[in-house]
Amino acid sequence: MSAAMPNRRKNLASAAPAAAPRLVLSDAEQTIVGARQDYLDALPIAAAIFSGEEGRDATIAVANEGFRELAGWQPERDGHGIVGNDFLEASGIGLAVESFLLGDEPVREYEGTDGQKVGGRHFIVRIAALKTAPGLGRRCLLTLLDRTAQIETERNLRAEMLRDSLTGLSNRAAFNERVEAALEDPAFQPGSQAVLVLDMNRFSRVNECVGALAGDELLITFARRLVSALRGGDFLARTGGDEFGVLMRLDRGIEEALQAAERIRATLAAPFKLSELEIRIDCAIGVAILSGREQHSEEALRNAQFAKKRSKTSGCVELYEPNQARAARHRFSIETELRHALEQDRLTLAYQPLIDLGTGRLAGFEALARWNHETRGSISPTEFIPVAEESGLIVPLGRWALETAIGTLAGWDLECGRELPFGISVNLSPIQIARDEVAGAVAMALRRHNVSGERLTLELTEGAIIRDPERAALVLEQLKCLRVTVAMDDFGTGYTSLAMLQRLPIDVLKIDRSFVSEMLKDEDSAAIVNAVRSLAESLGLRTTAEGIDTPELHDRLSRLGCSYGQGFHYAEPLAADDALGYWLSLRA
Ligand code: C2E
Ligand code: MG
Ligand code: MG
Repeated sequence: MSAAMPNRRKNLASAAPAAAPRLVLSDAEQTIVGARQDYLDALPIAAAIFSGEEGRDATIAVANEGFRELAGWQPERDGHGIVGNDFLEASGIGLAVESFLLGDEPVREYEGTDGQKVGGRHFIVRIAALKTAPGLGRRCLLTLLDRTAQIETERNLRAEMLRDSLTGLSNRAAFNERVEAALEDPAFQPGSQAVLVLDMNRFSRVNECVGALAGDELLITFARRLVSALRGGDFLARTGGDEFGVLMRLDRGIEEALQAAERIRATLAAPFKLSELEIRIDCAIGVAILSGREQHSEEALRNAQFAKKRSKTSGCVELYEPNQARAARHRFSIETELRHALEQDRLTLAYQPLIDLGTGRLAGFEALARWNHETRGSISPTEFIPVAEESGLIVPLGRWALETAIGTLAGWDLECGRELPFGISVNLSPIQIARDEVAGAVAMALRRHNVSGERLTLELTEGAIIRDPERAALVLEQLKCLRVTVAMDDFGTGYTSLAMLQRLPIDVLKIDRSFVSEMLKDEDSAAIVNAVRSLAESLGLRTTAEGIDTPELHDRLSRLGCSYGQGFHYAEPLAADDALGYWLSLRA
């Protein structure tokens, strides 16, 4: 009932208080009624004609069966007055008709209900003025088009659209609506709400191993447990495949959000039972506090996702910091430009000597990617390699590096007219192991340049093995068939187990620069270098010390019995021509 409807007191009768309420129709009215009953009965919807004139109550002149049923109106029992009919009163339609009869509108249409709070019916209410004979007052036709089914379908559809069918939770769209509403609430205070996003680490692996059905079961159980970790008033939704979002009110600021996140983590730490299996799930959790500066609700979710991404590597609950978005944009522009640089062949390789510490001779060169950007200048591989890994560009980049390094070695051979007595090392990213056909690419590059596998070393980091030990083992076996040397790069910084070291066909451990450069000052670093060397010895592996930048380090590591050394003490990474010159100068 619209607020614009006039007050009940202002009805027709009150304009002339002396007139008595009328419950029967005049003769003239009876004639019209007879004629119009036929028309109304022919209509498929509830319809009634009302009449009214100044000083008299409005009456129901005639109505069809549809209207009688709907309004529960029996003229023989109830008379013709509007007042007292429950339906007309509760729905406000009686009032609308009365006010319509008082005015001179030709037609009025609005959406109304029967006034019942639960299970009510919805109508399009249309009141249209009818022509009338002189002295008969004003008349109107009321029609009620029932839209209940349509509205319920719409309502169900909308509920369906906002619901995740697997877990029964709200979905991402519903979550964003909630956040939007929180941000638009006039009572919103910066810092009074937080968005928390979490997902399961390695869910896709679990899904692959146990099958999609059990994966679904895990999601449902996970969601249920999540619900139990929340407080009343927290709003939970499934915002992606294995990602869940929580919108929570904060009374005690950031601390409260972090505590809630820890509580959720603790609840999810107990193993999940999936038919016969027991699975432990590790979660990454990111938190973003709503500042009110978010442009839209998606931004709040995205901020929490940034933090969640950091949580994946740190293993802790992470809080979003605004400059993360800037860093992400920067990474994105690096990615775009790196793609162009690769396409236009603007990357180069630098070659850093590897020295045999026993003989002082050159054992080989490590090929290191270089990117000299036209406006940004030289960009370090420690900046662009992670971007390449994240975007998948590392696959073409890695193939290019392999091809170029082997091609350069073949070129040097050609220039010197013989096969030179050293090899080349190329770095291999964990992503290449996971996604590329590494062994095939290596075999092709070796064949194309007619270089034998013994002259190639592939350096991979511990991450390549930890990520997927089975696959790493397979790729390494394939590489061994090509007689390629395998070196474990940056050794000591990862978590390779001894068992893995023993099982995998690894030939060389490259002791990470961080231990080598510190070992003269720091006893712990010296002890680690020592330990790695004796471990390598007992496993029959060779060692390379990275980052030898002083003669003292060179002496110490030579005495320790490291096989090879690499570092600025011998040479920085050199352009291809300079590298060959370096070798020639060593021989002179
Ligand atoms: P890395 O494979 O451990 O390479 C050794 C890094 O140590 C190189 O850094 C090298 O310039 C630097 N270095 C060597 N000796 C010294 C020294 O005495 N002192 C100091 N301070 N640094 C020294 P760079 O060239 O910046 O490369 C960094 C990392 O980027 C590499 O570490 C490697 O992980 C990655 N990278 C470079 N090129 C490629 C590539 O083509 N493919 C892949 N997947 N990764 C690459
Ligand atoms: Mg390396
Ligand atoms: Mg290294």
